[in-house]
Amino acid sequence: MAPTDNPHKPFGIDYAPAPESTAVVNIADTYGHFINGDFVEPSSGATFPTVNPATETHLANIADGSAEDVDRAVTAARGAFEGPWGQMPGSERGRYLFRIARQLQERSREFAVLETLDGGKPIRESRDLDLPLSAAWFFYYAGWADKLEYAFPNRAVAPHGVAGQIVPWNFPLMMAAWKLAPALAAGNTVVLKPAETTPLTALLLADVLQDIDLPPGVVNIVTGAGATGAAIVDNRGIDKLAFTGSTEVGKAIQRVASTRRIPLTLELGGKAAHIVFEDSAVDQAVEGVVTGIYSNQGHVCCAGSRLLVEESIADSFVERLRRRISTLRLGDPLDKNTDVGAINSADQLQRITDMVATGVSEGADLFQPECDLPDKGYWFPPSVFTGVQQSHTVAREEIFGPVLTVQTFRTAEEAVEKANNTPYGLSAGIWTEKGSKILWMTEKLRAGVVWANTYNRFDPASPFGGYKESGFGREGGMHGLAPYLHERADVTGGGA
Ligand code: NAP
Ligand code: MG
Repeated sequence: MAPTDNPHKPFGIDYAPAPESTAVVNIADTYGHFINGDFVEPSSGATFPTVNPATETHLANIADGSAEDVDRAVTAARGAFEGPWGQMPGSERGRYLFRIARQLQERSREFAVLETLDGGKPIRESRDLDLPLSAAWFFYYAGWADKLEYAFPNRAVAPHGVAGQIVPWNFPLMMAAWKLAPALAAGNTVVLKPAETTPLTALLLADVLQDIDLPPGVVNIVTGAGATGAAIVDNRGIDKLAFTGSTEVGKAIQRVASTRRIPLTLELGGKAAHIVFEDSAVDQAVEGVVTGIYSNQGHVCCAGSRLLVEESIADSFVERLRRRISTLRLGDPLDKNTDVGAINSADQLQRITDMVATGVSEGADLFQPECDLPDKGYWFPPSVFTGVQQSHTVAREEIFGPVLTVQTFRTAEEAVEKANNTPYGLSAGIWTEKGSKILWMTEKLRAGVVWANTYNRFDPASPFGGYKESGFGREGGMHGLAPYLHERADVTGGGA
């Protein structure tokens, strides 16, 4: 069979559609808040819709949380903390976490399809990344629940009490798992708020919590928009706050938390440099760069959104990158062949569109492969900017979309300087065959995570978090337990 010029049909054969069935999910018309073990109506009676961003179809009506609802959830969480959960040995808490993990595995297809429907991410990613990692987080922290005294030897630690946790829309279930698992393992109870556009998998998790008989009030889920999050931050019954989201909202939360001296962890934005040296395995580096910026449509806080490539290979590298991007398949997120799904919301699409227009007006050169965008839904093609100056907005600000900027460097020192020239410091990537160069760079890069010859790898045992405006505190590993505990002279052991 003769090869063709069409990147989507290299041998003249098209991909047949391979959509995942939605029969496995059962979406209710309306969802209440999950408080004290039950779904309850919002005090105001108000709801808001959540839609499928790939089709703009309505999925469900979601309870809009008021300060009163938050207060009810905090009261339930306090009751559980002072009641069964607070009295329970760590080994028992661990059992509940193991049960959650196993349920996530058993129902993973249902969760993955729902995540893709509500948020627009390709099923390949929700199935192969979000779900396995969410289960892994619960498995990992289940193991710590009765071993806190080993995690923090010679220190008497105790849970804070009621943790308020606010998560974003890019990895809805996974971010909830990253928050819930360490908080519960450490013995806290929780009031969680999912993002407005993606509440459904958190609400399905509530179903799991009922199934495993988690004591009422240990986890409470209050849905709503930013005002509901602000009501959690403002609630006097909250003993610890954890937030993942934008730097702007993170700063506002920090101002409130500092006046009340509430322990706080912030996982915020990023503008990661992905650094490719001349001596790297170039084709692998191209794959890594593509994964780093286009997976989950670039809605990834640690996305490798700034490519820094050694000048000597820049032209050929960009050429290979363009060829590779032209083969990415954009479309139905439920199709198992899809690489790039839908943008999460109309608002986010507008932000990305505006940022890219700014890039063009400031003089950067935009490349977008030819690709048909579906008529309905929110879509943005994978994009690359070359001819980028450090002063360009697209090189400085987080776009949170499938947009890569390319800059060059001549020496490793210059690469470090350019990589660190950002208010953020969440992650970075290095591609080189020289181990010594990796170690040298890793020491100098101001980034919480540095990947070498790979990108976007996560493991529950490995701490994740930022420097500078990317926030503080770590999630994952023993480091992720520490923010959920405090030292007390009058407590022996770790609640085990
Ligand atoms: P966002 O607007 O800051 O929202 C994050 C969460 O906070 C959502 O649940 C949001 O509710 C809620 N919220 C909004 N305003 C609030 C307020 N005044 N007080 C309390 N809560 C409030 O961020 P986003 O646009 O959803 O997410 C994208 C950002 O998250 C990006 O900057 C990304 O880099 C960052 N992120 C960081 C990490 C990390 O680990 N470092 C991971 C993922 C994402 P609504 O959704 O209803 O508005
Ligand atoms: Mg939605």
